[in-house]
Amino acid sequence: MAAGAGHPPYRGRFAPSPTGALHFGSLIAALASYADARAHGGEWLVRMEDLDRTREIPGAADAILRTLNACGFRWDGPLVYQSRRTQAYAAALERLSERGLTYPCACSRTEIARLARDGSEGPIYPGTCRGGLPPGRLARSIRLRTYPGDIRFQDRIQGAQRQDVAAAVGDFVLRRADGIHAYQLAVVVDDAWQGIDQLVRGADLLASTPRQLLLQQSLGLRHPTYAHVPLAVDRAGRKLSKSLAAAPVDPADPLPALLCAWAWLGQRPPPAGCALSGFWRHAIRTWCCARVPAIACACIDPEASASIGT
Ligand code: GLU
Repeated sequence: MAAGAGHPPYRGRFAPSPTGALHFGSLIAALASYADARAHGGEWLVRMEDLDRTREIPGAADAILRTLNACGFRWDGPLVYQSRRTQAYAAALERLSERGLTYPCACSRTEIARLARDGSEGPIYPGTCRGGLPPGRLARSIRLRTYPGDIRFQDRIQGAQRQDVAAAVGDFVLRRADGIHAYQLAVVVDDAWQGIDQLVRGADLLASTPRQLLLQQSLGLRHPTYAHVPLAVDRAGRKLSKSLAAAPVDPADPLPALLCAWAWLGQRPPPAGCALSGFWRHAIRTWCCARVPAIACACIDPEASASIGT
């Protein structure tokens, strides 16, 4: 039975990757998803996206959970670790293959880079192996067969969206050459299994959503509702999590970072001088998704954000 069977109408989640400490950019996604879930009387789950062991920083998963806890986030149900869910991803891949929707691909990154056009999400796979592996070549990865046609959805913050996945991304990887299942497949399988019906996450994943909708459709899964919060950028326009200003949130004093994230999300300020418990009471009582700006309308000053963690 799916883990999500019989759940209340709203179930959200936060799905960090253990590639470092919880930084301000991730805190914004955690805070928005949590406040939205709790304001709707919903559940909020945490899933550790630790599939790619090569990118994992030892100890980061526990550090993220400790910081979330110190911030006052309380999650429902057991933590899910993607590294323990390989069989479920393999089964989903098998279902797609049985429907003729996948094919093995022999191409290396270098070969693709040589032939492919660049899209906004990287090189658009030119379809070299779509009709079968070239003679003498061995399968490295497995791809989804995509077909022309718009995938459309209504984002609660970003508004109407559409993407032709075949044109914008091409046939994308479901299982990588190193045998690891791709994020796009794992996220769809797990969101469905955990009964997640509301996704609130960073706008860096907006362009991934059509691929996820396509996979849900191909696997016969329900589509959740999406809300993508604006990314934190520094003055140079770099995503905060990628810049030098990606200061970790200080678990010993998380309130300044929470207040800064709350303001970033366009929400009404809490009473001056409130403590952590007061902040959360205010946050859950007053959260308003309609106030979240679609794009980053102000920049976080790297110096100010560096001081968040101190
Ligand atoms: N694990 C992803 C990240 O840390 C988030 C995935 C998602 O929310 O769908 O960026």
